[in-house]
Amino acid sequence: MGGNDGEWPSDDATVCPLCSVGCTLAPSDGEKSRAQGVPGPVNRNGRLCQRGIGAFDALGSDERLTTPLVRRDGELRAATWPEALDRAADALSTVADEHDADALCFFGAPHCTNEENYLLQKLARSLGTNNVDNRARLCHVSGMTALETRLGRPAMTNSLSGLSEAGVLLVVGANPARQQPVAFDSYIRTALHDGTTLVHVDPRENQTTRAASVHLAPRPGTDALVVTALCALVAERGGVDESFVAERTSGYGEYAESLAEVDADRAAATADIAPESLRSVADRIVAADRVAVLAGTGIEGSDHGGTDTADALINLLLLIGSFGQPGTGMNVLRGLNNEQGATDAGCRPDRLPGHRPVDSPEDSERVAAEWGIELPATPGLTEREAVERFGDSVHGALVVGENPAVEKRDASWLRDRLTALSALVVVDLFESETTEHADVVLPAAAGVEKAGTVTNLDRRVQSLTPTVAPPGDARPDFEILRELGIRLVGDAFEYEDSAAAFDEWTRLSPVHEGMTRSTVADGGVQWPTAGDGLHGTAVLYEEAFETESGRAAFTDIEANGTDSPSDRLALLVGSRAGGVGATGSSDERVHLTETDAASRGIEDGDSVVLRNDAAAIEATVAVDGSVREGTAYLHADVADPLVRDESATVRVRPASQ
Ligand code: SF4
Repeated sequence: MGGNDGEWPSDDATVCPLCSVGCTLAPSDGEKSRAQGVPGPVNRNGRLCQRGIGAFDALGSDERLTTPLVRRDGELRAATWPEALDRAADALSTVADEHDADALCFFGAPHCTNEENYLLQKLARSLGTNNVDNRARLCHVSGMTALETRLGRPAMTNSLSGLSEAGVLLVVGANPARQQPVAFDSYIRTALHDGTTLVHVDPRENQTTRAASVHLAPRPGTDALVVTALCALVAERGGVDESFVAERTSGYGEYAESLAEVDADRAAATADIAPESLRSVADRIVAADRVAVLAGTGIEGSDHGGTDTADALINLLLLIGSFGQPGTGMNVLRGLNNEQGATDAGCRPDRLPGHRPVDSPEDSERVAAEWGIELPATPGLTEREAVERFGDSVHGALVVGENPAVEKRDASWLRDRLTALSALVVVDLFESETTEHADVVLPAAAGVEKAGTVTNLDRRVQSLTPTVAPPGDARPDFEILRELGIRLVGDAFEYEDSAAAFDEWTRLSPVHEGMTRSTVADGGVQWPTAGDGLHGTAVLYEEAFETESGRAAFTDIEANGTDSPSDRLALLVGSRAGGVGATGSSDERVHLTETDAASRGIEDGDSVVLRNDAAAIEATVAVDGSVREGTAYLHADVADPLVRDESATVRVRPASQ
């Protein structure tokens, strides 16, 4: 099990599983537990970051699951594969028989391949439910929603390779120097060397700030206000691209009226930034031929304006006509290695493969004809909604590569929800808080142990090659899902290998049409494919947006920029980039300013409790100048419990109190 499944062009190199950049790597010749870089379509000089070099570190861990486990007499006990698969299929089908298919839910993962996510959503829909989702959608929900609803696709509009064409790079709520280091060095630093100006908008100073010409550090919650003030200053300076606005946008008249009401000085005061800094950025934008936005999780989910920030940034780019050419566009930097692919494969409750709506009869019929079944037409539950209904209307879950027990809600509440399920089947590499509640646990292979494809942050589909064998009896998720599909659905899951699933997926997904395994293996292909499938598309929306009218609409932004309650600190969450072995590399400390720490009787290195309505967690304090006053910074892996109910503020107290 777990070897190359034959059809993929094979060599020793695969794609790094630890972030969305998609660097190419292979086991090191001298030391097999280390990775060495291989020149690839993204890391063209073969460079890896430190995290990538450690991509094989956790694979040989004694903690890996190596045999299927089945609960007997209340305990998880070793079982054979046929026994475990039969038990898993029985448990899930019993729930569907006793209730209906909507009593089941299916959670995919951004660490799984495109083919695995494709199989998971096919399994859910073949059984009759659209209750299928993936955790990645929570990471960039407002950025991706804004992109999809206003422009057409939930994806970066442009490519890393065109960044040198930008006059100004506006990096907002992101730290690519740390989170996407190879992309930063290969593409952003190169652009800066070629004369591009980097403007960093982030309340926290970080590694990216050091490369910036200008750092705007607005108070948390005022990003949208700042960007809208920039729009007003750009308009005031005559920077509006009149012909682009006339030919490719709608709603400008009303939007222009609202912009005329914006007082940039007042906005700067509210955001606590110098008005002249704002003007200087507006001047640079007006002077630039092309402007590209790179946005991160910092634009997501704040109390005020989290969604608005993405909309305000799109407004700015529409205003100056900065779409449809290299070095332009709205580029949300995804974090996890196959976040994009999980969405593209249809692991969403409202979308079929290729982002097609589940309630579109035409798309539904096309997929139904291929699968030989009738598809459910009502959008399903998101992962968040499904978890809330565990034990109520949802009674069975198939969780692939996920740990919702610690990742989506307050832990004790979640434990209760998981306990309320009648059937829980978990596919994973390690035991976790979720497997503690499982009826069946199936041991999976890691990314570098698999065949298939993944899609990186700029829409490039790339091939994986298994470089090492999974330990013991662990199997690729693809084989596990195929076996479950055969048991639960039948012949429609009799795939010879993952390559056959790739062929089926690309037949059904309009944006992947014509893509072939050999073109993907030969340097990757960026979707959407252009006609023959041999060539990808580096820049979206060159001629028109993919909206009904072909135009993108301006949106009025109601950015209020109010402050958080004075006894709380705004919680800033660093972006997640993960995979096997990634968590251990993240900074687990909470960063506070000297003033905020002192006013709470806290010193550098102290243990503190961070608490909000969602949860309480303990962390060690780092007192430094990297955050602004009124703010607490935590890496996403640590902050997770605190943001499960979308709270964006926390109380911080010494652990001893
Ligand atoms: S972690 Fe990301 S940037 Fe680093 S080597 Fe892997 S893919 Fe490249």
